[in-house]
Amino acid sequence: MFFEDLNPECEIGANCHYVKLGSFHIVIDAGMSPREIGLNALPNFSEIPDGSLDFIIATHCHLDHIGAIPILLRNHPKARLLVTPQSRVLMPVLLENSYVVMKHQRKELGIREYPLFEKHEIERLGEYFFEMKYGVRRTFRKDEDQIDIEFFDAGHVAGAGGVMLEYKHRRIFFSGDILFRRQRILQAGKWPEKKIDALVMETTRGATERTEQKQVEAEIERLILTIQYTLRRGGSVLIPTFAFGRTQEVLTILHEAVRAKKIDKKTPIVCSGLGLAIVDTFDEISQKYPSLQFRKSVLKDLGVIPLNRMKFLQPGEEPSKPTIFVISSGMMVENTPSYNIAACLLGNAKNSFCFVGYCDPETPGGQLLASSTGGNFLFSALHYSTPIRAAVERFDLSGHADREELLQAAIRLDPRVIVLSHGNEESRNWFYDELTYNAPHIHVLNPAVLTPYQI
Ligand SMILES: [Zn+2]
Ligand SMILES: [Zn+2]
Repeated sequence: MFFEDLNPECEIGANCHYVKLGSFHIVIDAGMSPREIGLNALPNFSEIPDGSLDFIIATHCHLDHIGAIPILLRNHPKARLLVTPQSRVLMPVLLENSYVVMKHQRKELGIREYPLFEKHEIERLGEYFFEMKYGVRRTFRKDEDQIDIEFFDAGHVAGAGGVMLEYKHRRIFFSGDILFRRQRILQAGKWPEKKIDALVMETTRGATERTEQKQVEAEIERLILTIQYTLRRGGSVLIPTFAFGRTQEVLTILHEAVRAKKIDKKTPIVCSGLGLAIVDTFDEISQKYPSLQFRKSVLKDLGVIPLNRMKFLQPGEEPSKPTIFVISSGMMVENTPSYNIAACLLGNAKNSFCFVGYCDPETPGGQLLASSTGGNFLFSALHYSTPIRAAVERFDLSGHADREELLQAAIRLDPRVIVLSHGNEESRNWFYDELTYNAPHIHVLNPAVLTPYQI
């Protein structure tokens, strides 16, 4: 197999794997880096000859995996876009949001190349989609050649799948982003049982140890306790969340807490736009596919208030009564609802900030987590600075498998080769060292960026 990682950073960025098996030319994921701006956020597509791709396979609908698909499709009109039925519904919603954000950034930040794709290119995705249900293997033929492809439920987010390619009795499995643990709204992910030759796997949590106290259920309990204490002292809670998946998971956790009378039913809960838009899509998917269980009745039960129906709050101005905000972005990126509400709540010691997902250290969320209480925090996009008085807490509810379970799963699969991806250098190094020590017969490849390999 020819293999090349087209992500220009050794990081979780513009994920994109370029693979050739016999006459088949395949790309697995084509993402946009959350850290970079403009054309620098794209994978290096110049490595792929125009018109050559047979398949573009999307493991799931996070933007670091699909954000560049409309751009890649421009030069590959014959390619089929292989997705799970859930991703088929979700992808246009998430790409459309990305388009709106880019248009906004063009205006606010003067990034002239934005938006990187047009609305009609999202609408045209329908011509390329080819649906693949979990566990249903499909055979594709080209001249005399044939390849089998199958998706495995990866947990992580709705529609996420690991992808198996089988060519001439050789099996290559791409993990995508994987979570082996069940979430409130999603089934646990599973890996294949059959022997495989090569495993291309994510390494997101390679640098993160989960301690005994940090087990997920204990973390959820600690989150609810923090919310209880905050509301009792008359403060508000900000939970910055990713709109896709994490918002609906947190709403379900709050729903449970309200039903168990741990949180007063009358507490206002506020959500922002995309998180609410996805609720409808999730409801639709849940009715058809049992791996996702989220009903929009949760919103009604909780009396969720859309952020745009609230009075606009200026920096430093508090809501009229203690409120729980479940709003995006998860990393508190500039000019997003969570960033603006943070500027209202940070200066008051009664309030709490509860981070429930990964924050890149360079984003405002990451910077706040690294700051200490009493210091000042500058909301540069709002020209506003305030002392950090609110409690700032991090809860480990990661949507990615813990490093130990991923390591064990990889060793159990016992492939001939393991290719490391989707992680920073520290994370990849942990997996490299552990795998070469615990399973010395497996060849472990930490691929250099933009370097072709024969595997
Ligand atoms: Zn993901
Ligand atoms: Zn990812």
